[in-house]
Amino acid sequence: MIQLYIPLNFLGTLYREIKQSLTDLDRMFTLMDKEREVADAPGAQPLQLQGEPELRFDDVHFAYHPDRPILQGLSFAVPAGRTVAVVGPSGAGKSTLARLLFRFYDVQAGAIRIAGQDIREITQDSLRRAIGIVPQDTVLFNDTVEYNIAYGRPGATHDEVVQAAQAARIHGMIAATPDGYATRVGERGLKLSGGEKQRVAIARTLLKNPPILIFDEATSALDSANERAIQQELQQAARGKTTLVIAHRLSTVVDAHEILVMDAGRIVERGTHARLLAQGGRYADMWALQQNEKQEQMAEERQEQEQ
Ligand code: ADP
Ligand code: MG
Repeated sequence: MIQLYIPLNFLGTLYREIKQSLTDLDRMFTLMDKEREVADAPGAQPLQLQGEPELRFDDVHFAYHPDRPILQGLSFAVPAGRTVAVVGPSGAGKSTLARLLFRFYDVQAGAIRIAGQDIREITQDSLRRAIGIVPQDTVLFNDTVEYNIAYGRPGATHDEVVQAAQAARIHGMIAATPDGYATRVGERGLKLSGGEKQRVAIARTLLKNPPILIFDEATSALDSANERAIQQELQQAARGKTTLVIAHRLSTVVDAHEILVMDAGRIVERGTHARLLAQGGRYADMWALQQNEKQEQMAEERQEQEQ
């Protein structure tokens, strides 16, 4: 009994962690079928796509627990091929948007639609194939680096995997290990830092090359030099794709079609960068704060160089 209980319990914990960090794990779903919270509707059809899809949240209400509402009537659209950015304090509900889009949970009221199709009415498989997410915290498989990147597109060639790793600035580090791409990562293998794991997730998503992209503070674990370099790759990857960027650094959202400022499950301000600045509200305050931080950081770096 005890022998059985421990591994099952462990898998449960692992599963919850993974779900929270949004690694798309069909393999894990198969293993843990009982824990699945959403199921394909009877007669669910694959998502029908013609070119880049529009993405809509229509009056979405959602709570993880009935007594604590998280999203309270959220509406916005990402027009086909455009980028919409979401900013706001920690706990505002930003990552919840990504979890709902990937249908780890169903909304309690309202609807999420992709190209006009309610995501509850399409197969989860086709939904997850259409979306690439770089999550806030990446959980990797206890498998090789190659497997972890190629997971983005099963059947990818080694060269394609290497290309994606180069774009995500992780190739050099992988190539420097004795076993290279055959190196195992995870619990019993090579331990990667948060930033390295994030770069593996970025490589996986670049390789997957889906029509819808979600970056959930995708470069938050990287140092500023790597962040700038990878930001360019991500912007390149997002060109012409329907993209939702959850940003911690506002410099990355300046060009967004629309910026949504979220707080406590609601959109409290919305507009383009220029309009929000002119409005002089929450966004303008956040922007001023980050400009100050940047100046301080630059001053510190100069001092370090002088010493
Ligand atoms: P953000 O990404 O903006 O920091 P999240 O969307 O992760 O915020 O979380 C929004 C709120 O939902 C937070 O108060 C958080 O504590 C809560 N929350 C997140 N995940 C869960 C969960 N699995 N179960 C219960 N509450 C959760
Ligand atoms: Mg978050």
